[in-house]
Amino acid sequence: MIHIVSNIEYFEEVIKYNKIIGPKKDCKYYPCHFDGQDCTWCFCPFYPCQDGITGGVLKIGELSGKLVWGCAKCRWIHRPEVASLILKSLKRIMKKERSLTKNQLLKLREEILKIFPP
Ligand code: SF4
Repeated sequence: MIHIVSNIEYFEEVIKYNKIIGPKKDCKYYPCHFDGQDCTWCFCPFYPCQDGITGGVLKIGELSGKLVWGCAKCRWIHRPEVASLILKSLKRIMKKERSLTKNQLLKLREEILKIFPP
């Protein structure tokens, strides 16, 4: 069993599906970032990355009134080449590891950012 910090069932489904989803045009929010976006990581495995380089920001939550990490301006996670590499990388790691820490996930994000900068 792999332990990802949040939305674990969603990630397991994506990994089982074994390919990126592409644009999910039947979603009522599509396109929430840009036309043609890849929707595989609708729930970002790196959330909250707390690194504004990809467009995320710390903001006051509309419902909670508390500080939350907002990803509305992150287009990076929705680029097909990025989504695909995240999927391949998670699968590779999961072959060896039984659990994933937040630090491992953020390290993976950094590695992918080097290959595909925002
Ligand atoms: S800013 Fe982008 S990479 Fe960071 S948590 Fe949000 S969606 Fe994920």
